[in-house]
Amino acid sequence: MNSSEIIKKTNHFGAMNYLPKEVVIERAEGVTVYDPEGNSYYDMLSAYSALNFGHIHPEIVAAAKSQLDKVTLTSRAFHNSVLCDFYEKLCDLTGKDTVLPMNTGAEAVETALKTARRWGHTVKGVENGKQEIIVCKNNFHGRTITIISMSTDENARMGFAPYTEGFVTVPFGDAGALKSAITENTVAFLVEPIQGEAGVIVPPEGYLKEVRNICTENNVLFIADEVQTGFARTGRMFACEHESVVPDIYVLGKALGGGIMPVSAVAANRDILGVFNPGSHGSTFGGNPLACAVSLKAMEILVRDDYPRMAEEKGTYFMNRLKEIDNPEIIDIRGKGLLIGVEFSVDAAPYVKKLIHGGVLAKETHEHTIRFAPPVIITYEQIDAAFETIKEAFSK
Ligand SMILES: *Cc1c(COP(=O)(O)O)cnc(C)c1O
Repeated sequence: MNSSEIIKKTNHFGAMNYLPKEVVIERAEGVTVYDPEGNSYYDMLSAYSALNFGHIHPEIVAAAKSQLDKVTLTSRAFHNSVLCDFYEKLCDLTGKDTVLPMNTGAEAVETALKTARRWGHTVKGVENGKQEIIVCKNNFHGRTITIISMSTDENARMGFAPYTEGFVTVPFGDAGALKSAITENTVAFLVEPIQGEAGVIVPPEGYLKEVRNICTENNVLFIADEVQTGFARTGRMFACEHESVVPDIYVLGKALGGGIMPVSAVAANRDILGVFNPGSHGSTFGGNPLACAVSLKAMEILVRDDYPRMAEEKGTYFMNRLKEIDNPEIIDIRGKGLLIGVEFSVDAAPYVKKLIHGGVLAKETHEHTIRFAPPVIITYEQIDAAFETIKEAFSK
């Protein structure tokens, strides 16, 4: 089938909960993807940061293949021989002493919410049913009923009521608003250190530090959703490190799966994650040996090759190049590391169309902003080559 036949068949049988750009990816390697006609593109979205290692990283693929010949799934009814090493490595990276493995980012967010509610009741002493969790305006944490219940995106919520109770919304980047919203029933504050889907929104300097202090003073758990920002994307292993703060709970996903498997997790200390007892939470696939083998290799590579430094240096270079572009419709270029948003005063979709036509895959988020988040392994030559297309597409 050619691209247009594939798109037609896909739309014929699939629910229309996505509106993909008109590109079919048939195979990929590193930063480059190919369509069935043999055209090549630079992938500058990286599956929303799930492809920090690029497509089919040879060592991660080898780890997967080797595990495929041993055992792939045990369920948590039994121990498997890889989970302990995955735990140890993730504890090492996060500095936490306990991990709970799941599969998707949304599941990890749900896990963090359950952790906070049970901790609030059994440790903090909030009456069960009264637990409150504070979240931010324009957040993105996933798509489950509970998660969209705390969303402020009307399209994500419409028609999906009744919603889960117990959430309070404050503006992102406003520590004073967080402080005022805390009551005796507040158990946690859930925040993205940089809001990704909202359009790469970087909070004011010092915000996360203030959040850390406010949470500590009020015995409220600070939950950082680093599903998109974690694992080197922003030029640090975790984006919270930009302000040298450590959250009580890390919510992790996307790149944790090495671009191969859905792997997510919550990491926290035992005084928090210890609220779970057998039967209180779980997942058939969570912590499966194939996922653990892939993720373990991915985490080894992250550290060995110093991905945080790569993302920081290449991000600075790429950002400076983007700032060379002279177009009055570009009103802001922002971000950290290789998570960069270019905001336009006008609808960004026509610019995206030009990018794709020129061989650069990217997508607008919230109409006006184009997010660039290429694999961290992108070379300077590839940045320069992609930049030529971007410059051409963005010039007036
Ligand atoms: C993508 C994302 C999620 C949800 O992850 P899924 O794997 O799509 O369920 C949650 N939080 C943030 C910040 C994300 O970017």
